[in-house]
Amino acid sequence: MAAEDPIKAVEHYAHALKAPRIRESAARLAEQARDSGWSHEEYLAAVLSREVAARESSGAATRIRCAGFPTRKSLEEFNFDHQPALGRDVVAHLGTGAFLAKAHNVVLLGPPGTGKTHLAIGLAIKAAQTGHRIAFATAVDWVGRLKAAHNAGRLPAELTKLRRIGLIVVDEVGYIPFEQDAANLFFQLVSSRYEHASLILTSNLPFARWGDVFGDQVVAAAMIDRIVHHAEVLTLKGSSYRLKDTGIDTLPSARADNTAQ
Ligand code: ADP
Ligand code: MG
Repeated sequence: MAAEDPIKAVEHYAHALKAPRIRESAARLAEQARDSGWSHEEYLAAVLSREVAARESSGAATRIRCAGFPTRKSLEEFNFDHQPALGRDVVAHLGTGAFLAKAHNVVLLGPPGTGKTHLAIGLAIKAAQTGHRIAFATAVDWVGRLKAAHNAGRLPAELTKLRRIGLIVVDEVGYIPFEQDAANLFFQLVSSRYEHASLILTSNLPFARWGDVFGDQVVAAAMIDRIVHHAEVLTLKGSSYRLKDTGIDTLPSARADNTAQ
C-alpha cells in the first residue's frame, strides 16, 4: 500500500493512531515541503506538531470546561488601572504558571468586588493552558466535598486524588465561619498539598481574622504558616468594581473588611 500511494498510507496510519490532524496536514504540508525544500525531518516535525498543538489546545479546553468555574474571566480582561497598587508584572509572571512548577501558592485578599475571583479564574485558565489540571470551588464547597469523603471513610484517598490536580482554587475563605471539624478538614487539604501542589485562595478577611473563621487560632496559624511559606500574597484595594458606575462608593461590609492584608 505504501509504495502505491504514500499519502493514502499516511491517512490509514493516522486513522489507526486516532490522529486526525496528521491525516489533514500530511498532503498539504508535503506540497509546502517540496516547494520550500524542507528536509524529511523538518516535514515530519511539521506534521507531528499540528497534531500535538491541536491536542494541547483541546486538552486545555477540556480542563477549563471541567474546572467548575462559576463564570469565565481572563487576565486580559482585568483592568489594572482600577488596582494601581497591584503589580501587572507580578500577575503576568503568575500567568506563566511558573509558580505551579514549584508548588507555590497565591493568596488574593481584599474587600468584595475588587476582582479576587476574577484574578483567581484568570490565573487558573492560564494554568490550564500551560498544561495543568485545575479545579475551582468555594471554601464551603471544598469542605463539603472533604466531609463527604471523610464520612465515607475515604478522606486519604480523596486527598491523594486532589494532589494530582496541579492547581486548586479555594474561593471565598471567610465568608462563612467553619465548624471545628470543617476547619480540621480544610487544614488537612492545605497540609496535604504543602510543597506538592498549588492553591489559590481568595478571602475578604486579613490573615489576622482567619482564626475567627476557623474557630481555632492554633489551627488557623498552622494553616496560614503552610500557605504563605511559598506564596505570592496579593492585596486588592478600593471600592467594588461592581459599583464602579453606580455612584455608590463603598459597601458597608467592604468598609469593615478594607483592612485585609
Ligand atoms: P471579588 O471576588 O473580589 O468579590 P470579583 O472578582 O467577583 O470580585 O469581581 C466582581 C466583578 O467585577 C466581576 O464581574 C469582575 O469581572 C469585575 N471586576 C472586578 N475588578 C475588576 C477589574 N479590575 N477589571 C475588570 N473587571 C473587574
Ligand atoms: Mg469573589
